[in-house]
Amino acid sequence: MTGQKMLKFTQVDRDMPEKRVPNLRNKDFDEIYAQYASDKAEEQASRCSQCGVPYCQSHCPLHNNIPDWLRLTAEGRLQEAYEVSQATNTFPEICGRICPQDRLCEGNCVIEQSGHGTVTIGSVEKYITDTAFAEGWVPAIRPHVERGDSVGIIGAGPGGLAAADMLRCQGVQVTVYDRYDRGGGLLTYGIPGFKLEKEIVMQRTAQLEDGGVEFVLNCNVGEDLSFDAIRGKHDAVLIATGVYKTRDLDLAGNDADGIVRAIDYLTASNRKSFGDVVEEFESGELNAAGKRVVVIGGGDTAMDCVRTAIRQGAESVKCLYRRDRANMPGSQREVQNAEEEGVEFVWLSAPAGFEGDAVTGVNVQKMRLGAPDATGRQVPELIEGADYVEEADIVIKALGFEPEELPALWGVEGLEVTRWGTIKAAFTSGETSLEGVYAAGDIVRGASLVVWAIKDGRDAAEAILGYLNQSVTVAAE
Ligand SMILES: Cc1cc2nc3c(=O)[nH]c(=O)nc-3n(C[C@H](O)[C@H](O)[C@H](O)COP(=O)(O)OP(=O)(O)OC[C@H]3O[C@@H](n4cnc5c(N)ncnc54)[C@H](O)[C@@H]3O)c2cc1C
Ligand code: SF4
Repeated sequence: MTGQKMLKFTQVDRDMPEKRVPNLRNKDFDEIYAQYASDKAEEQASRCSQCGVPYCQSHCPLHNNIPDWLRLTAEGRLQEAYEVSQATNTFPEICGRICPQDRLCEGNCVIEQSGHGTVTIGSVEKYITDTAFAEGWVPAIRPHVERGDSVGIIGAGPGGLAAADMLRCQGVQVTVYDRYDRGGGLLTYGIPGFKLEKEIVMQRTAQLEDGGVEFVLNCNVGEDLSFDAIRGKHDAVLIATGVYKTRDLDLAGNDADGIVRAIDYLTASNRKSFGDVVEEFESGELNAAGKRVVVIGGGDTAMDCVRTAIRQGAESVKCLYRRDRANMPGSQREVQNAEEEGVEFVWLSAPAGFEGDAVTGVNVQKMRLGAPDATGRQVPELIEGADYVEEADIVIKALGFEPEELPALWGVEGLEVTRWGTIKAAFTSGETSLEGVYAAGDIVRGASLVVWAIKDGRDAAEAILGYLNQSVTVAAE
């Protein structure tokens, strides 16, 4: 039976869901891929060769049981496919949309390596979960038993929410504190709608709230409420605050008006997508409409900025990156999307300073790639005398993020951090140097991926449950 349904990769070509045409999609913030029709999802899932040793699964941080849910999809057993997918992943509808599958599951699919084009795992995952929500197969959180113990989670990003889900399902009383006015962390205010529509995230926060997770929003821990107060109120605490300190440039003119941080720019744009009034957007400070935009950086944040600027109606959008296309950290899929939408990439170009009190341009130095360094990456070297000015009305710095200094910010003694400023936490449990305090996601790993934050949140929840159970046992003795 399975043999008939599966292994169709030699007969059926790889086919992604339809991508909206660039000159239409670059005018709105809706997702760019359409949904599969059900027969298409079944057909694409049936291409899987059901490997005995599935590399897609072993290269997924969550070890999602991909071959099984592909087979169930191919057989039209979608509800079971959803149940298998949900068993290892708290937010499959989100991973299906924004995981860099080309570097994880799909990048390791064996049929890709045999020249047939990878199974479209991400798109099938998205299809299964969207169908599950539409059909009402996503169960409400209704714990069998309510427990008396409580956990405070600081940070409502994917790491904190994955832990909240698991703990709440076990009947633990969960309170999530966040300084923003909506849950979701970077899913809500970092990642733009054309990659992940906002209602997809809000659907999950609503599900958690309906299941009894309490959200305390607009609460900046360390300012509005102390860490010690949270620790004193709950039996265990999870820190899942992400990393938000922007890496900066130490260049002449860096403080000019019109030079902005990527996170501020993207947050303002995402708030507009919710219909919020955003002063810095209305004033033009964080709005690219009609402007010549230069984005500095070559990672996924830079890609999100350039594509946002195009959608806001910028006159031109250029991305400066000091290495070349083959050596950029951002996903090649996103670079291609950006190019299709009208972004110009200026490779081998590094900023050397800025012109104007209100920025009018970036002084650009041209680079070439030299010998590889200890990490094997070719080092950019300056080409003397090839400098020029790239005109700009707004410059967006997208150079990456670092952790804030939490122990100092929160006045916490004994919370150990690494030399990079991330919280020191045990590898599979998230246990920190403070008893009953755990950490998960970017604040432990440094800027990473949603799927790793989910994995960490789930692992930490399991460890916290163990800790709570142990505390109950000790108290009873
Ligand atoms: C622009 C951008 C695009 C990205 N695109 C992708 C992508 O396509 N695919 C992918 O896999 N990953 C992507 N990432 C990375 C991904 O978003 C992160 O790895 C992931 O969100 C980390 O989850 P987290 O829960 O650790 O932290 P976050 O999502 O950052 O959530 C942390 C939460 O903690 C809150 N918080 C922080 N400090 C406090 C405090 N003192 N008090 C109260 N609350 C606090 C914040 O408000 C936030 O809501 C992107 C990141 C950025 C910046
Ligand atoms: S590696 Fe590819 S073909 Fe093999 S089980 Fe995974 S999706 Fe199927």
